[in-house]
Amino acid sequence: MSALAEAEGAANLGQGFPDQDGPEWIRAAAATAIGEGANQYPPGRGIAALRSAVAEHQQRRYGLAFDPETEVLVTAGATEGLTAAVLAVAGPGDDVITLEPFYDSHAAAIAMAGARHVTVPLRAEEDGFRLDLEALRAAAGPATRAILVNSPHNPTGTVLAPEELSAIARVAVDADAVVITDEVYEHLTFDGAEHTPLATLPGMRDRTLTVSSAGKTFSLTGWKIGWATGPAPLVDAVLAIKQFLTYSGGAPFQPAIAQALVHGDGDIAELKRSLDRRRMLLLEGLRSAGFRTVRPSGTYFVCADAGPFLREEARDGAAFARWLPGAAGVACVPLTAFCRPGSETSRALSDWVRFTFVKDESVLSTAIERLKGLGRGAGLSAAPRP
Ligand SMILES: *Cc1c(COP(=O)(O)O)cnc(C)c1O
Repeated sequence: MSALAEAEGAANLGQGFPDQDGPEWIRAAAATAIGEGANQYPPGRGIAALRSAVAEHQQRRYGLAFDPETEVLVTAGATEGLTAAVLAVAGPGDDVITLEPFYDSHAAAIAMAGARHVTVPLRAEEDGFRLDLEALRAAAGPATRAILVNSPHNPTGTVLAPEELSAIARVAVDADAVVITDEVYEHLTFDGAEHTPLATLPGMRDRTLTVSSAGKTFSLTGWKIGWATGPAPLVDAVLAIKQFLTYSGGAPFQPAIAQALVHGDGDIAELKRSLDRRRMLLLEGLRSAGFRTVRPSGTYFVCADAGPFLREEARDGAAFARWLPGAAGVACVPLTAFCRPGSETSRALSDWVRFTFVKDESVLSTAIERLKGLGRGAGLSAAPRP
């Protein structure tokens, strides 16, 4: 979609990367680290300063205590942490449960492990996309080895509610499954929604691998500094896999992110405020252009039902996303790209697309103007729903 957006000169609200780099002082810290010689392999577990900063962050924000020597592992972004975690705990004959829609790398990691991917739908409701608790309980069984939970959730923007988290915890305990969490949007929540790590729920600390990263929190997605925290035996298992994926990486970025985690709360708060403004701008823009939207309480994304705009040339969300850059100069991503082909959720969300608001306000305003034109022009009233 990014290539298509580029070719068509479209406002790219498809791929979710910020068009403004993270704080100057954090970037300067990495430059200093290069100058001071942080240029060779860091230790496999990550440098001590970053492991301590991660442990301190988990303690200060969530009251979670981890030993930086044995219970914290630095990874090449959350992607490596999640993939290594899945490879560490699951294999052929095992089931791994995720929500659906799901982030693409989750499905790829499960496939690489040779495990079976079982999904539980999130359904579009008035107050957000909600987890089907009935389906969750039905999805778990003797083969369930792990439950991979992403909250705040990409692509839907949902922050799982306390009763949804408790239900997941209960299912995990009953199935004796490991929980792997993807918390890369932990700080990017809105409307007073609070992120609660599953590891804080009763009985969960010892069966949970919590994965996060600096990319989204500090708008430094290209640095790929992530981490996993959990009980030592699980972290050791992830380390054993990580050893032969990357071994280690990001030498000058690790000390910079260590400082960011300790001194960056103000920067995080400011990003959150600015993202909140952009969220409301995009949400109101999409609504006034004629889309049905679900208000996200976290992440970078708004999901919208493109149903009213579907037509001969664009019969579903996927076709709409291919058609839109040329027709209106805006790029988005279909939600079916985050679903299993042919699944119930894929059918339920066939007309839905995802727009990101992690772009300059001018880009968002341009996109909104163009989408309103779509509604006024050949769109809405003229287009019978195929
Ligand atoms: C961006 C993203 C990631 C990847 O994180 P990195 O630290 O860049 O590897 C993982 N999960 C979700 C849900 C994401 O949106």
